[in-house]
Amino acid sequence: MRGYPVNCLSCSKNCVKMNLLRNLINIIYPPRCLVCGEFLLEDSIRDKNGGNSFCPACFTGFSRITSPRCPMCARPFVTESGEDHLCEACLRKRPNFDAAGAPYLYDGPLMTAIHSFKYGSRSYIGDSLGPLLAQFACGWLRESGNLLTMPVPLHPKRLRERGFNQSLLLAMHVVRRLNTELDFLSLRRIRYTAPQTGLGKDERRKNVRKAFQVINPEDVKGKTVLLVDDVFTTGNTLNECARVLKKAGCEKVFCLILARAGNRV
Ligand SMILES: [Zn+2]
Ligand SMILES: [Zn+2]
Repeated sequence: MRGYPVNCLSCSKNCVKMNLLRNLINIIYPPRCLVCGEFLLEDSIRDKNGGNSFCPACFTGFSRITSPRCPMCARPFVTESGEDHLCEACLRKRPNFDAAGAPYLYDGPLMTAIHSFKYGSRSYIGDSLGPLLAQFACGWLRESGNLLTMPVPLHPKRLRERGFNQSLLLAMHVVRRLNTELDFLSLRRIRYTAPQTGLGKDERRKNVRKAFQVINPEDVKGKTVLLVDDVFTTGNTLNECARVLKKAGCEKVFCLILARAGNRV
């Protein structure tokens, strides 16, 4: 959905009145592709794309990550055959998390969509991206019982600047689909850090060091956490979150990311 309410304000359901209202809004403001602005006039286009607001050209431009890939950091390999296996980086140094999964590579139209979601004050794009991540999570996670889903937190200052936490908006779709528990309070970002973009490898690692804290370790002790983020670049942020969570007593940490940056290896 775009910027208007999903459910009827009087009966809280997706009722006939609501459908009429939605059709009327679609006539006055025809839905457009969130990436290129192309009109999405036919319902069949939206149905084919799972109801999201991307035109077929942009949606087919989302680069799906397929096997073989690294099960630890979600990095895909250049070769198109063979089984999933650890990449060289993960063989050299195992991350603090137990596995990471991502449906797409961070490039093309999806990169444009994520960019305008995060930096263009277009929080409603999360309603088209979130279901894609949730759908992937259903197939990727063998079982979702007893999972505690946590978005990677933003520092309160960054949250005030942006107005929303993009990872929380994505996580809400995942929680709804998997029927898991959402916890966006236990893990806090306690240090305001420079954006990771533009920093070197070592600087990125140092930048997020001691940036997170688990408020009450008793709340996460023995739990399996599903950490949700929009983009995996070097993995330093997720790695640091996983370190802190495990130190607080979490048993396992899985990372669910919408888009994986970096080339195939
Ligand atoms: Zn488009
Ligand atoms: Zn790897």
